[in-house]
Amino acid sequence: MKAHDAMYIDGAWRPAAGTDTIAVVNPADEQVIATVPAGTPADVDAAVRAARAAFPGWAATAPAERAARLTALRDALAARREEIAETVTAELGSPLAFSQAVHADVPIAVAGSYATILATHAFEEKVGNSTVHHEPVGVVGAITPWNYPLHQIVAKVAPALAAGCTVVLKPAEDTPLVAQLFAEAIDEAGFPAGTFNLVTGLGLVAGQALAEHADVDLVSFTGSTAVGSRIAATAGAAVKRVALELGGKSANVILPSADLARAVNVGVANVMSNSGQTCSAWTRMLVHRDQYDQAVALATAAAAKYVAGGRIGPLVNAKQQARVRGYIEQGVEEGARLVAGGPEAPLDKGYYVAATVFADVTPDMTIAQEEIFGPVLSILPYEDEADALRIANGTVYGLAGAVWAGDQDEAVAFARRMDTGQVDINGGRFNPLAPFGGYKQSGFGRELGAHGLAEYLHTKSLQF
Ligand code: NAD
Repeated sequence: MKAHDAMYIDGAWRPAAGTDTIAVVNPADEQVIATVPAGTPADVDAAVRAARAAFPGWAATAPAERAARLTALRDALAARREEIAETVTAELGSPLAFSQAVHADVPIAVAGSYATILATHAFEEKVGNSTVHHEPVGVVGAITPWNYPLHQIVAKVAPALAAGCTVVLKPAEDTPLVAQLFAEAIDEAGFPAGTFNLVTGLGLVAGQALAEHADVDLVSFTGSTAVGSRIAATAGAAVKRVALELGGKSANVILPSADLARAVNVGVANVMSNSGQTCSAWTRMLVHRDQYDQAVALATAAAAKYVAGGRIGPLVNAKQQARVRGYIEQGVEEGARLVAGGPEAPLDKGYYVAATVFADVTPDMTIAQEEIFGPVLSILPYEDEADALRIANGTVYGLAGAVWAGDQDEAVAFARRMDTGQVDINGGRFNPLAPFGGYKQSGFGRELGAHGLAEYLHTKSLQF
């Protein structure tokens, strides 16, 4: 696979400061497909300097000019759609059709959405005798994970650039190739040198250097809660802004009046897609005691369609595979009933985990509390609505969720009582303009749409 042996800094591909490299592995066959440079604090520093130097000029551009560049970025990404999909399939392992429809098409749409938002966004407002200006925050350090590798890059970089900020990106070490493709698209779109910079590298080296850099004004991080809380502590000590998009353990609440078969089938698909490596996945299915056996049977049948190597790809790496298999073993040990899948690797080669469904899960079990990040669904029974709400809100997370009911108002009333940042009502579709982000330990800050743009702006009030 094609890879740059360089960092993208100040508008050009430049040799890395050090000589270490990171091997990129295809998780479906465990073969090394490319290597990229492992950035050092010196690379991060060069990138932050370039971003700082570019900031005043970019911040002063008219929104229409920034919109023109973002439209060009959208077009450059769209022209690479197939290459993006093939690259994500090679480094993440997701089936090609999913890579095309989700890993390529969603970020292309999100990049375009910021060009549209800029056409009408008010960067100035009147409040009594004041004019309030919304100004870009400055240099943004963006640290992204591997599970939706291009989407998570675009969900940070597009609004930051739209706001007039400049950016240094440190993408996940497992998926650096699509980040390099993104840098190529930025280059082609004609952004001024230094507005966007890419440093590939390890989290503990390049990521930490970026999060700790004194000249970064805002750190936007998506990934594990453990790393996120550390980054927030560092940012807090330096009094700099931080946005965190962390884990989830979202509830799919099926009320008794719902279309049970549809709710269960969509729920299983939601968990199994991307091999369960989705922070917003509905990994806890809550079903009324009276419908429980029927729901378990439906989910077992639905999970059987997710054959490893076919509709379900591998996990990203051996460590994640071992982690998820460990959670499945723990679920069995704690007394949950395995009705589909299990801890055994379904294929001899590749980091696959079988599509797994647990019944008789109680809210206090580890598999009902912790983010597994694999194709593992837990089905929990509830006695009544109050019990369902207690279970739904009974984790440290609050990122997403779903409610199904025969009557939409009934579902909305339940959703309004959930401690979570997003709820899909009766299978409502993903909306790339709706704010996305967490309650509780799922983080703070919002991505996407106008709310995502606001993250990268601060206000200045002038009184008259
Ligand atoms: P991680 O949090 O270690 O990695 C995410 C990003 O942070 C990567 O770019 C990584 O290089 C960087 N990073 C790691 N340590 C850092 C540090 N000390 N300072 C700065 N940057 C650092 O996540 P992981 O190890 O890849 O995955 C572990 C678990 O995290 C998963 O099993 C899952 O539960 C969770 N996760 C959540 C999301 C999400 O979308 N919310 C994404 C990926 C992983």
